[in-house]
Amino acid sequence: MNEIRTELNERLDAIRRLLLESMNLVAARVDEVTEVLLSRDVAGADRIILADDEFDLIAQQIEDLCIETLIREQPVASDLRTIVAAMHMNSDIERSGDLCTNIAKAVGRLQGTQVDDRIRDLIVRMAEQARILFERSAEAHEALDAELAKSIDELDDVLDDLHRDYIQAVIQEAKHGDMVPHQSLQFALIGRFYERIGDHAENLGERIRYIVDGWTPEREGADRERARSVPAESPEDEQIRSRGLAVIDSISEQRRIDATRRDFVANVSHELKTPVGAVVLLAETLVDANDEERVRLIGHLNQEALRMESIIDDLLELTRLEEFEASMTTVSLDDTVMMAVDMARGFAEARSIEVAVVGLPSNVEIEGEQRQIVRALVNLVDNAARYSEPGSQVTVTVDPLVELVDISVADTGVGIARPELERIFERFYRVDRARSRETGGTGLGLSIVRHVADNHSGRVMVDSKPGAGSTFTLQLPKVGNVEAPTVE
Ligand code: ADP
Repeated sequence: MNEIRTELNERLDAIRRLLLESMNLVAARVDEVTEVLLSRDVAGADRIILADDEFDLIAQQIEDLCIETLIREQPVASDLRTIVAAMHMNSDIERSGDLCTNIAKAVGRLQGTQVDDRIRDLIVRMAEQARILFERSAEAHEALDAELAKSIDELDDVLDDLHRDYIQAVIQEAKHGDMVPHQSLQFALIGRFYERIGDHAENLGERIRYIVDGWTPEREGADRERARSVPAESPEDEQIRSRGLAVIDSISEQRRIDATRRDFVANVSHELKTPVGAVVLLAETLVDANDEERVRLIGHLNQEALRMESIIDDLLELTRLEEFEASMTTVSLDDTVMMAVDMARGFAEARSIEVAVVGLPSNVEIEGEQRQIVRALVNLVDNAARYSEPGSQVTVTVDPLVELVDISVADTGVGIARPELERIFERFYRVDRARSRETGGTGLGLSIVRHVADNHSGRVMVDSKPGAGSTFTLQLPKVGNVEAPTVE
């Protein structure tokens, strides 16, 4: 029995040693690959790609040892925890190794690109953070220290923030036209690779905590649930109890906000996943394609890249609308409406749809930010064209009331059923996903319109009949009536 125990311990030690070795290897690889990336060292990148086998080799050894231990020895519960965790950690480390290789693969594709200082700086900082995350994991694993393992979460938050700044910087660069679309995509993917290395390190932290004391995220969730259902200990103490309630209230409010935010992030990720996946697949197919196929594939690539661009554009617009104070000025309504119609006409005409403007008064002024109102109207006219048959007409009507002005956009298209009317202003909600996708919709257009209306103390209304068409009306207060729009 004693002898078996020794063998078991030896195997477990070997597993721990190999895990440690591969974690340190990832930390070093993150540094190496970042160096070749920033210096565009293609030969160095090739060496890294060839060395990818190192991870597979260690991973294979760890897996064999785990399986042998399970089959041959008699592990007790805590050993089992180590083995189960080791299997998971092994795959997180192996994937992180793959991600380093992916970064190396991007080096060749970025030949001839100039990197802006800010982007370069953010890459350096993301890489540094990713390396520190893996070093911390190795340290926590070696010391079997649950607190150290827990601290990995905070390190990963720093990396996530850096990644967010980085993506913004890449988008800005792309918008200024300093980068061609496929280069910005490559840069966006590189950022994502670093971020994912961080996610894997976070998983390692969780597994280490599992080895040390059986901690799991699910258990934490259950503990929290239990704590919430414990009754108040001194119900007669009115003051304390009500104070407790207030705290619980604010916690549940925070939870609700967090949940909304999480939903939003999940939605955005989901929306971007499809075009990003398509781009990756198309790019891989391009490598072996002949000239004729290339032309076709590049066309597709372009389409998917444009789709990502419009989603990101709309998201940025929404963020701006939510976060920034609008710079209100007095704007002329006819200028604003004509600007929007001119902008939207190209898209409508491409779908053989005519846009007519009716009753445009020349003397109505509104208080607002012209850019926002134009954007809202363009979205409405685009939608009217998007959900109508070719050959039909979209009519923009301006109707000045006493204190308000109605700008309506009417189409004779597919219309919207009553139960859907409540939901179409939600972010990413679409009645017909396929049609929205085909015509380049992002699912964010109407949320933007609603925000613009809110920002201007106005509102947006819809009247629609399936099969007959829809009329969307943006109602805004005229100059001098911003504070008190007497809308029924
Ligand atoms: P999208 O980018 O998908 O058009 P929107 O937020 O602009 O997203 O609109 C949400 C959904 O509302 C659309 O997917 C579509 O189903 C419906 N919708 C919007 N405008 C119209 C319209 N003029 N006619 C019919 N359906 C519309």
